[in-house]
Formats: sequence, C-alpha cells, structure tokens
Amino acid sequence: MALRGLSGKVVIVTGAGSGIGRASAERLLEEGASVLAVDSDGEAARRLTDELGEERLLGVVADVSTDEGTARYVAAARERFGRVDGLHANAGIEGPAGPLAEVEPTEFDRLIAVNLRGAFLGIREILRTYAEQGGGGAIVVTSSALGLRGRPGLGPYAASKAAVLSLVKTAAMEAGASGVRVNAVCPGPIATPMIERLEETFGAGDPGSVHDAIEAGIPLGRYGTPAEVAALVAWLLSDESSFANGGVYTVDGGESAG
Ligand code: NAD
Repeated sequence: MALRGLSGKVVIVTGAGSGIGRASAERLLEEGASVLAVDSDGEAARRLTDELGEERLLGVVADVSTDEGTARYVAAARERFGRVDGLHANAGIEGPAGPLAEVEPTEFDRLIAVNLRGAFLGIREILRTYAEQGGGGAIVVTSSALGLRGRPGLGPYAASKAAVLSLVKTAAMEAGASGVRVNAVCPGPIATPMIERLEETFGAGDPGSVHDAIEAGIPLGRYGTPAEVAALVAWLLSDESSFANGGVYTVDGGESAG
C-alpha cells in the first residue's frame, strides 16, 4: 500500500548518487513523488538518472556545502516541478579517521562544511521556500547513530552528526507553527560505499574483521540496507507521519538500544 500524501509531491534528495540517498530517491519515485536528485559527483548523478530513466526525476550536480550550490538545487526543483514539498538533506562524508589529537584542522573544517553547513544551508533555503509557498512541507535530515554518542576514531563525524540533531530540533520548533515538520533519522551501520571505506580504513588490510566486529554489536546481527532507511525517510516525508515533528529516529537494528 502506498504511503498517504507522497504521490504528486516534489522532494529534493541530496547525496542521491549513492547509498542511502539513492535508495531514498528510488523509494520516493515508487511512491509517486517527483524527485530532484542532488550530488556533487556528476558521474553518480548521471548514473542515477540514466538507470532509472524516469520523467519525474531530475539530477543536479551541486556541492551542498556552498551557498551557490544550495540556491541552485532548490531553484532547479522549483523551475522544473513548480514547487517543493520535501527535503531529504542526506549528503555526508565520513571525514578524517583517527584520534582527535591527530585530526588536521583543515579536514575537520571540510567535514563540518559538508555535514553541518550543508544541512544548515538546505534547511535554511527550504524553510524560506516553504514560507514563500504559504507554509507546509517536510524536512528529514540524515544524522547517524554516532550522533547520539562519542566514537573513538570518528570524533569529527560524530560531532557533526550530533550538531545536525540540534539544528533539526530548533527548526522543528521554529517552523512548526507554519505546518512544517522537521525530523532526523539516525542510521546505524548500513551497507553502502561509505561503510566499506570505513572498514578498509580501520581494518588495516582485513576489512572483514571490522565488519564482523560491528555486526557483533548489532542485536539484529547484520548491517541494514539503504532501502530500510529509505522506508523511514519516506514515512517521515509522507502524511502518515503528520504528528511527527522534531523527532530523532534510530534505524540501527538495536545497536544504540543498550
Ligand atoms: P555514500 O558515500 O554511499 O553516499 C553519499 C553521497 O553523498 C555520495 O554520492 C556523495 O557523492 C554525496 N556527497 C558527498 N559530499 C557531497 C556534497 N558536498 N554535496 C553533494 N553531495 C555530496 O554514503 P551513505 O552511506 O549513503 O551516506 C549517506 C548519509 O547517511 C550520510 O550523511 C552519512 O553520514 C549517513 N549515514 C550513513 C551510515 C552508513 O552506515 N552508511 C550510517 C549513518 C549515517
């Protein structure tokens, strides 16, 4: 059964060229929405639009960390589809791996620019758009289960994901009166290129051992799939979640339950 209220809606998905963002774009299209898919990787964006070959899908190459890129992707959605009803602010990078004492400040800055500034710019531009359209609309931001706690070796990433949760809560409080709902999803380990890169980085030649150790900490005993995150995102962008606002939703197989 289709999720109520997504058919005919216009949703922007950032980081849509891979992993969770791609699954989100695919699910939203299945639900009948039109999708503006944003990615800084032009090849990934092209692959998505070529492979799906869908009239209701438009790919835009943009870097979410820039004011210009953000203004351009929102303008592209309004120009092509006439309005915007939803934003899945999902683009993110894992950034530098290693203890905080060894993190280069420039690497920290880049991580914050993409994961935090990028989310801020997207929320800001979309809230302005919703106000111009007369209110209503939904936003979902991809945080992380690591945004709920510290993680040795991934300190800057965890900090960026904690900070976006605060942005989401403030945005939900500021915009709720205009009928806008803002929520966060916190995925645990999800089988995407990002976690494969992390397994390589921390595995020192044996990524499988890292994979096994992570899985051992998940009560359901496995990584999640991008589609399992996309299902939650689609629900939060649909009218089925009409009273969900300012929420932090884990989708992590129970990893952060303990
Ligand atoms: P991924 O690397 O597979 O995909 C991320 C996509 O974002 C890529 O296509 C990349 O080109 C794009 N991107 C990166 N920087 C960008 C920028 N500046 N502007 C526009 N696009 C940009 O990663 P994923 O696992 O699908 O991650 C998606 C989101 O989910 C990220 O925010 C990530 O932090 C979060 N997350 C992932 C996991 C996991 O285990 N995979 C867990 C929790 C949270």
